[in-house]
Amino acid sequence: MIMKYFKKVLCVMLAALMLASFAACSGNSGDGAKKTLVMATNAYFPPYEYYEGQDIVGIDVEIMAAIAEKMGCDFEVADMEFDSIINAVDSGKADVGLAGMTVTEDRLKNVDFSDSYATSKQVIIVPEDSKIASPDDLNNVKIGVQLGTTGDIYISGDIEDGVYTGSSVEQYNSGMEAVLSLTQGKIDAVVIDEQPAKVFVEKNEGLKILDAEYVEEEYAIAVKKGNTELLDQINEVLAEMKENGELQQIIDKYITAD
Ligand code: GLN
Repeated sequence: MIMKYFKKVLCVMLAALMLASFAACSGNSGDGAKKTLVMATNAYFPPYEYYEGQDIVGIDVEIMAAIAEKMGCDFEVADMEFDSIINAVDSGKADVGLAGMTVTEDRLKNVDFSDSYATSKQVIIVPEDSKIASPDDLNNVKIGVQLGTTGDIYISGDIEDGVYTGSSVEQYNSGMEAVLSLTQGKIDAVVIDEQPAKVFVEKNEGLKILDAEYVEEEYAIAVKKGNTELLDQINEVLAEMKENGELQQIIDKYITAD
């Protein structure tokens, strides 16, 4: 009888402990050490994530820091090819994918996404003297993209669907490499997210961004499918950061309005 009662109490206590440790940080090892959340990213995507010396900094890193702080966790950034991020999250190697990542139907098959934290668009970078003046002019040209990004997916899809004829896609491991290739005249245009496009055009002479954007999209944080506890916490922190202006402050720190 006493044993039974004891067991029940123990159960309730354990449940309470699990809840507490989750609130503190899911999966806390119990030895007082904080759990470390791993953020998978591709750190060649300024101003969302990029190297400053040895450190990876940027909007996404600051958002991660705020989430980790709120959850009482440490965090570390794992830099990898953009194309590997979904897999890292899906396999549990990383807890979150935070990489200026656009929500797409296809990605939703493999990961869950948080609420959106930024709106972005795919833009087209061309040399200043280019004949390409709008997305309508992307026929019979070589278009550079970053492998596995929405720029790649949309352009490749449009070529396949016959929206553009006579054009080919060159896939690079980073947007920066695609832009370098553009400055060398090896390709005619680069399709990439607006903010990194601005940074790359500023750093390389003779390039411009076309006014007419290609596609609009939403960035969100990826977590393992079904990990609703983590997702709920992330959404809570994001809502709070939107409400108290912290998110806008972080964005303003890295992006100056034009
Ligand atoms: N937003 C684009 C995508 O999700 C590119 C992201 C990136 O290169 N980091 O595919």
